[in-house]
This record gives sequence, C-alpha cells and structure tokens, in this order.
Amino acid sequence: MKSVKAKTGSYGYAYGRAYVIDNDINVTKRSVTDIASELNRLDSAIKNVDSILKKARNNADDKAASVIDAQIAMLYDKSFLEEIRRMINEEAVCGEYAVSETGRTFAANFEKLDNAYLNARSADIRGISERLCRQLTGRDEEIIIDSPSIVCAYELTPELVSTIDKTNIKGFVSQKGTKTSHVSILCGNYGIPYLFGVDLSGEGIKSGVEIAVDTEASMLYIEPTDAIKKQIDESAIQKSVPEEADFDGRVKICANIGSVREAEYAVEAGADGIGLFRTEFLYMGETLPTEEEQFEVYRAVVTAMEGRTVIIRTMDIGADKKSPCVKLLPQENPALGKRAIRICLEEHDLFKTQLRAILRAACYGDVKIMYPMITSVAELERIKEILQESIDELATEDMSYSVPDQGVMIETPSAALLSDRLASEVDFFSIGTNDLTQYTLAVDRMAEELDDYFDVHSEAVMCLIKMVIKNAHAAGIWVGICGELGGDEWAVPRLLEMGIDELSVSPSKISRVRALAAEAAKSDTQEEAGLGAEIICAPADGRVIGMSEIPDPAFSGGMLGKCMGIIPDNGNVYAPCDGEVYMIAETKHAIGIMSDYGNDVLIHVGIDTVSLGGKGFDVLVSEKDRVTKGMLIMKMDRDVIRAANLSDMIITVVKEK
Ligand code: PEP
Ligand code: MG
Repeated sequence: MKSVKAKTGSYGYAYGRAYVIDNDINVTKRSVTDIASELNRLDSAIKNVDSILKKARNNADDKAASVIDAQIAMLYDKSFLEEIRRMINEEAVCGEYAVSETGRTFAANFEKLDNAYLNARSADIRGISERLCRQLTGRDEEIIIDSPSIVCAYELTPELVSTIDKTNIKGFVSQKGTKTSHVSILCGNYGIPYLFGVDLSGEGIKSGVEIAVDTEASMLYIEPTDAIKKQIDESAIQKSVPEEADFDGRVKICANIGSVREAEYAVEAGADGIGLFRTEFLYMGETLPTEEEQFEVYRAVVTAMEGRTVIIRTMDIGADKKSPCVKLLPQENPALGKRAIRICLEEHDLFKTQLRAILRAACYGDVKIMYPMITSVAELERIKEILQESIDELATEDMSYSVPDQGVMIETPSAALLSDRLASEVDFFSIGTNDLTQYTLAVDRMAEELDDYFDVHSEAVMCLIKMVIKNAHAAGIWVGICGELGGDEWAVPRLLEMGIDELSVSPSKISRVRALAAEAAKSDTQEEAGLGAEIICAPADGRVIGMSEIPDPAFSGGMLGKCMGIIPDNGNVYAPCDGEVYMIAETKHAIGIMSDYGNDVLIHVGIDTVSLGGKGFDVLVSEKDRVTKGMLIMKMDRDVIRAANLSDMIITVVKEK
C-alpha cells in the first residue's frame, strides 16, 4: 500500500477501482489526404456528442441541464465550426487536431478578455473541444462508468461533475482543485467524497488500480490494505447513522443545496432544513430564468423539504460564479467588482423576477429569503423597497404570495463590523465564511497557488464571527454559518461555544456535523456535572481578571488548567472550596487543595513571587488539613510583595477531575 497526502474538497470515505478520465486534449497533428471523409468524420463526431449530451440532459437536474444546454449551444457555434472546417480544408489536418487547436485558441482569446460572459464561453469551448476530441480519437465511450469506481482526472470541471452519471461513482480525485471551488461544493452536495492535489501520473494511478479516499485525514491510499478498507467501512457506517449523534436540539444542522435533487439528498441525510439554497445555477443558461421557471424550482424544493425551513439566497452571480445570461463588463478584480446584490440593485427587473418567484413559493412552506454580499445598511433599505414593490405588484395582480423572514449573509468584513446595525433590520444572519475569509485575509478563494494563505481557521475571522453572534443575540435574532467552516471539525465545538444557532453544510456532511455537535454537547454536560456542580468561590475580595488577561502565559495559556485572577482588596486569602490541603509550596506562595468533588484547586498568590523565598506569606493551614469554603488559609503582606515590584494578583487554577 502507498499513502499519498492530498487535500479535501468534500467529505466522505470510499474505496474502489480508479477510473482515470483522460481529459488532456493534447492530440497529434496528422495530415489527411481525403478531406471529404475527414469532414464526414467530424460531422459524425458532432452528431454523437449531440446525442450523448441530449441523453445526459434527460437525466439531469435543473442546474446540470442548464450546463448541458450551454455545451450543446457551443457544439453548434458557427465561428467555432467554421474555423475547424477551414483548418481541415485548407491545412489538410486531421479533425481532432483542428478541433483541439481551434478550441485552444478560442478559449485562450476569450479568457484574455476578462469578461464574465466571455469567460463562461471559454469554459464551454474547452469542454466541448475535449468531448469532440474524445469522440474523434475513440475515447468518449470510456466516460460510462458501470462498476463502483473512484473517478480520477487531471482537472474536474463543474460540467463534468454535473453531467456524468454518478450511479457508480464512489469518489472523485483530481490533481488541480481548490477547497472552496464549485467542484468541491457540487461533490459535497451530491454526497461524494473528493480529494484534490494528487499527482495522478506521478503516483502511478491508472484505471483499474484499487484506491481508497479518507477525506477526514486527507489521505489517498493506493492498493489499500484490508485493515484500511475495514476502517473506511466502519467510518462510513459510523458517519452515516444520524441517530447515534442525536443532539439536544439547541443547534440546527441544515443543508446547503443548489437544486431540487439536492433537497432530496438533504432530507435523506437528515437535514433540519435548508440553510442555504444557492440559486445561481438557475442562471447558467443562455437566457435569464423566467419568474415561472424559478417559481417551479423554489416550490419543488420547498415541497421536497416537507415543512422544514428553506432559506433561498438571491442570486450571487459575479466573481467566480460566471453566468452566460448575466452580462457584466470586464472587471479588473471581479471578486471585488460587480457581484450578487450589486447587480440586483442595478438590474431591478432581474431582481424583482426572483423576488416575486420567492414570494409566491413562500405560500408552500417555511421559506426565508437571504441577501448575499451585503456591505451596508443602505443596501438593505433599498432591497426592502424593491421587495415592497414586488409585494405590491403581486397584490395588484391578485397573485398568491407570502412575505418571508429576511436575513443577510455576513460575508464581508464591513457586514461583520456593522452587524449591530444590520441586526435591527433583519430576522436572521447567516455567516458566509468562504467569502468572509477571502475578504478578511485578502486571499483569492479560487487561486490554487494561494491555498496555503487561505487559513480556514483564521483568528481574525473567528473574532469577527464571535462579534457577529454577540450582536445578533443582543438584537434578539438568530445566526447561522453557511460557509465551509460550519462543517469543520476544529471549528464546530468552537462555534457552538460562541453560541451559533445553526450550522448549514453540504448534505454529505450532515451526520458528521451532528456527531461533532453531539460530542461537544456531551463534554458541556460533563463540564456541568464536574466543575459546574461544584461552585468554586473567589479566594479573596477584589476585582476579577479574566484568564486571558493574566500577565503570565503559564496561566493565561491554560497550560495548568482553567484560571481566574483577582486583584485583592486586602491580604486575606480564603479556601475557595471544601477539601483537603495536599500541597503547600516551600516558598509559601501557593496552596493546593483537592476538592471534595475531586477537582484539583491551586491558589497561587502573586506572579513570580517564588523569588521572595516565602517572605510576606503567612500560611495558616498545614498539608493534609481539611478546609471548608471561606476558611481563612493565608495572610499575605501586600506591601512586601509590591516593594519587590511584583504583582499580588491571586490566581485560582482549577484542574478538573
Ligand atoms: C460563503 O461565502 O461562505 C458562502 C456560503 O457563499 P458562496 O460559497 O456561495 O459564495
Ligand atoms: Mg459567498
């Protein structure tokens, strides 16, 4: 067995035979003499690709269908086909070379223009060239996967992931990729584990080789041992039993979805609701989705969720989410450019069409509406006016509608900083940590080469989250997380401790996050039963200092246990609990008490006072003495301590049993 360190795009466990998709469209230049038959070969390849795409479209969900539509449109693009035919005719080259060269040139030219609409076209060109080349070189049928496999490719594209028949796909592996890419999100939504950062040819991964993916450990195993497979079987079973992790109900575990089909996955995965319905996939066709089309999709999701809450996010096109039908001018920095709500506030008709569809779908269940990329209170005021116009229109037209709760995504530092003001304007917050991290750390979330700078556990982002939760609760509204951090093992207990009300993750992560939340709840309960049941009193009269502010890292860092400091009013030190003295420091500045509850309680008087060699401390108890809470156990001379330029802060350290 060989182990390869990878990066995790979507969670889960799997093993199976590798199915390597060769999407490298490098082809050999071949001269042809029979031009007519080469043109016929091209035509029949186009016909075959057309029928493959149309077949895939019949089985596709809404978002995949619109992706496939764009591919079909490209297949018949006039200038693309004209150039391919010209090359065959005039340069007498083989069809696959003409396709590959034309595709490469067209895609590169479009990419250079840095325009969202044309960028999207370039992805279509790459996709369709690849398909045509596979046809012309007899490689297209390989894409049909009829036995349980882990699909490996140099690069996975959203097109490939959404069009491929996933019945037998247990996992995805790629060389190129990023954690927050839409491929990672799509894989998560489909409940399929995904690892990236694997050098397939370098590691010798070929079709048929048995491999295993453990996304928890971000490891790929080539020819895994039986022990690894057993471990994966057990992990997969354990992570898919929601009952095991029955939580106390304080935090809701919801799903992030992008289509009706994913809503069904969410229900199967035991989601409490939909915390984020990404609606951009509706905008992937050549024309804008109509109100009726949107209404049908929203209603279908709401119906699929059988009464559970569905939070519909208004469209978030722009930056990395390019749309062929939302045409944007070239932008120097698209992630900082026209995106999401900025487009909606300029294109009222586009926005109102979506708002009307959501208002109408809200009659069918518990719908909430959420606005992305908010940066100011003024934006929200403007949104409310447009929402009101939409409501008035529906009322005038005598259409059925219901006005949903409204929330904003906190995904820009400015929204986090204004969260106290925004909180009084909305019914809830949802923190989008993918963008919040991108904008706070100034790291492009899509740039593979910056992956190491994209610190998902950033201290700065955690500070902002804490502040947002505090402000939300102070205003009496609830707050959730719908970015990838909500499913992060390290973050979940911390977010719960901060008081987060909802975690929304891809359906594949639901049971895992539920288990993490249950674990965190269990340790909370243990804490209450241990230290919580025993009330440790202050050992002196004075002013309390929080653990993190104690000016000695040995205490503030928590190395010795939970700490509290007191700047004393006088020199009396009392027993903070009932128990037995088990230690008196030689230099008299510290006393250890084993409490009747079994907690180890240390009273440490002053900082660096060991240097006084016992001067200034009068200990009134001996080792093995029994003490009761409030008993005077020491008198210290504050003047002696202060004369030595030392702090007389009294620190209580509790090490729980
Ligand atoms: C986010 O930014 O965290 C988020 C959930 O939105 P998206 O990933 O769709 O930008
Ligand atoms: Mg976002």
